[in-house]
Amino acid sequence: MKIRFIEPGNLPYRRSIKNLYVYDKYIRTPSNGIITLATVLKSRYPDVFCYSESISKIKYDDIYNADIVFISIFTFNANRGYETAERIRRNSSALIVFGGLHATLDWRETIKHCDYVIRGEGDEVLIPFVEAIESGSVPELPGVVMRRNGEVTSFGEPVPPTKLDIVPDRDLMYNFRKMAKRCTLWPQVHASRGCPHNCDYCSLVAAFGRKVRTRSPQNVVEDIRAAIDFFGKRMLNILWITDDNFFADRKWAVETLNAIIDSGIRYSFTIQARFEVGFDDEMLDLLKRAGVDEIAMGIEFLDDRSFAEYHKKSTYDEILRSVKNIQSHGIRTRGLFIFGADDHTPGIGKQLADFVIANNICGVLIQSMYFVPGTPVYESHKELLIDAGDWSRCVGKTVHYPKNMTPAELQREVITASRLIYSRRRLLDAVLHKRGTERILFIGEYFWQREVRKDMKRELKYLESLTQ
Ligand code: SF4
Repeated sequence: MKIRFIEPGNLPYRRSIKNLYVYDKYIRTPSNGIITLATVLKSRYPDVFCYSESISKIKYDDIYNADIVFISIFTFNANRGYETAERIRRNSSALIVFGGLHATLDWRETIKHCDYVIRGEGDEVLIPFVEAIESGSVPELPGVVMRRNGEVTSFGEPVPPTKLDIVPDRDLMYNFRKMAKRCTLWPQVHASRGCPHNCDYCSLVAAFGRKVRTRSPQNVVEDIRAAIDFFGKRMLNILWITDDNFFADRKWAVETLNAIIDSGIRYSFTIQARFEVGFDDEMLDLLKRAGVDEIAMGIEFLDDRSFAEYHKKSTYDEILRSVKNIQSHGIRTRGLFIFGADDHTPGIGKQLADFVIANNICGVLIQSMYFVPGTPVYESHKELLIDAGDWSRCVGKTVHYPKNMTPAELQREVITASRLIYSRRRLLDAVLHKRGTERILFIGEYFWQREVRKDMKRELKYLESLTQ
């Protein structure tokens, strides 16, 4: 069996000087998910390989004569995935199978573009799935959806895998080793899955559930070592632990951090967390000793009404106290924010910039709220979507009619926040007064945000036309 995986790029990779030195318009790192799944299949089938349009063009000559092509989609690249599937369909008899977050949640849409959808994480379904196809039988497995002769059959809900101790073989991704030298790519390790919370807009918890499942600390250390070796020496030696909430299982988090410390690995880590970690002094000490220099916190909003509205269990006061305590342990805080909540009004951009600057948040990711089918926020806002069905703008741009602003006003607020946070004056300040990693990151992000703003500004006319 010849098996290929594809991760479509909403903005397919184009060779550019920007890919060498600064962030490109979108952060470009192939997701761990498809490499992990390819590694699983490779243990049974020798001819497995992956392409990610975030780092290379797809070699279609290698795709067309495959037996099975798996295409993995998030929401932002779903349309590109469908186009890719149509191209393969026109030129090949390969079986086309979709998976990934968007396919899991919106499988009724995705199945129109392929032969099968595999919902859920897939780790324990892929081998029996391919074995069934190879033997000519129907893969009646949990999470599998089949389209045959126009009829769609779902074989039940996916079952989350329990054996997660897999070290992804990054060499299964075309061009990855070469591209790993670029400063726009980060080594990544995903150590646990699931989150016990239930924020209305969170597609991850909608897809992967609230039960937290973890890899063994030794396996995480092995993967970290492999990722560091794979990426080699770089200008910035930072590894991103991509779990959505690393501290959801505290006991395991302590064991894993201790395992990193005991391993003797000396590297710099960024980790994602909720605000609670900022009240856990023992954990913060451990993080610092393990090499975690930065916590990326999903702060999302700055007003308690929005926290309550979207069932995000936080308050403004808790966030503030947490950020200060994290920083007092010598750890930087990065903020992830959402604009476009029902209570947001013009002025939110300046308010966020003031908060970020006053509280020394080292960097931000600001996204207009987007709505993945299958999440509560999609159900409550689906009538307000602009261009429903075109998911390609779900990269932080305005995709809905907010309650208290026009779509153009919302996009302007994102632009304003970015312009104030990444201003020339702050760039100069970073160059003169910040040191090491923090300085390099700010400079990189300054140019990245400039690209993002340019792209957003180009769309303002279109967004204005929607309310004229
Ligand atoms: S805390 Fe984060 S990962 Fe957990 S449900 Fe909320 S947004 Fe999702």
